[in-house]
Amino acid sequence: MITVEKALEIIISNSSVAEKSEKTDLFNSYGRTLFKDTISDSNVPPVNNSAMDGYAILTSDIANAEKKTPILLEIIDEVQAGNKFKGDALQSGYAIRIMTGAPIPEGADSVIPFEETEESENVVKVFKKTSIHENIRFAGEDIQKGNTVLKAGTRIDSAEIGLLSSMNMNQIEVYKKPDVGIISTGDELAEPGLNNSGKLINSNAYVLYSEVKKYGGNPVYGGIVKDNYEDVKNCFLSMMDKDIIISSGGVSMGRYDFIPDVLKELGIDIKIEKVMMKPGKPIVFGTMGKKIFFGLPGNPVSVMVSFMQFVRPAILTMTGNYKISKPVLKAATTEVITKKTGRKHFIRGIFHIKDGKLFVGTTGPQGSGILTSMSSSNCLIIIPEEIDLVKIGELVDIQLTGHSEI
Ligand code: AMP
Ligand code: MG
Repeated sequence: MITVEKALEIIISNSSVAEKSEKTDLFNSYGRTLFKDTISDSNVPPVNNSAMDGYAILTSDIANAEKKTPILLEIIDEVQAGNKFKGDALQSGYAIRIMTGAPIPEGADSVIPFEETEESENVVKVFKKTSIHENIRFAGEDIQKGNTVLKAGTRIDSAEIGLLSSMNMNQIEVYKKPDVGIISTGDELAEPGLNNSGKLINSNAYVLYSEVKKYGGNPVYGGIVKDNYEDVKNCFLSMMDKDIIISSGGVSMGRYDFIPDVLKELGIDIKIEKVMMKPGKPIVFGTMGKKIFFGLPGNPVSVMVSFMQFVRPAILTMTGNYKISKPVLKAATTEVITKKTGRKHFIRGIFHIKDGKLFVGTTGPQGSGILTSMSSSNCLIIIPEEIDLVKIGELVDIQLTGHSEI
């Protein structure tokens, strides 16, 4: 039996980064990972422009402007976003009405917002001074031409989609998604939504399918396979073209738990069989060339916890991500936690923030079949192997399951 850390190390070092890329358009790029550094070939914004609706002026003209002694300037033109001032450089004594986003006319060096002025008959009274460059957004202020704006391995979220669009890109080169085969094992299982009285309903396949999708894999569901050696073997054989195969169930010590033996017969190099963790002790991990195999336990909570700890980082690594860790913070427990020593426990927890401090309690009963505990939790409380008691107020590690990787 090995530690969680050792298991993760083995899994990461056996997860090879995809060599292939593909193109995707912006609308479909969410959640994908950039294959190359993105270097901007233009400035964003492209020109100096106004950050406010107001008047482009010469700052020195209104240096003495005050509520009681306004400065009067003659308005000679108006520019809106998308247009530009066509005259020569703005001269002292004049102003140009300007809208947010419109290019700053030559000669002007600040913008006084409408709110600080009064206009009548093409003359504007300015009641307040500006400082130089006030309310001007400079060309390249956000993105400078030639700069690396996003590194290869960056996961594309909404802000990245915005940046890629502003850099005038539409076809984005991303890592190819690994194909991930999903197998559910168990004679007791039936698919949801059918006439299933008395059967145990398969939830693992659907959880795994969505988790694989969430972390950038391409899930392929292989169905329920009965607990018999040949069927399990044939199901794995039918999935051998995938990059990752994940099964649930059939890895414990029961008479019908065939997964480790099947994997061995298929020539898969088993590198992990048990991990010092709860839930999820019996976890099989193996490799065959660049393909990786996960035999996860059957219990629904064990599946989710072991996916989060091991399969998620493997998929992220294979898709080139450089951020693969969920954040871990310290929180004070609001209840006594007891456990046996020997394994690292991942307890479903609910954290909250009070007066800027983090507190955490458990979701209640922690049986590995209690899937409601995953739904009501917002973190996993991680209690180390050697600890058997945590008192109220003691600090524990909490892994923020719903937060993006850092
Ligand atoms: P096993 O490791 O195959 O003995 O599975 C342990 C337990 O997990 C089973 O007794 C079932 O209650 C549950 N289980 C196994 N597979 C699934 C599944 N696909 N969906 C929901 N529960 C499952
Ligand atoms: Mg089973």
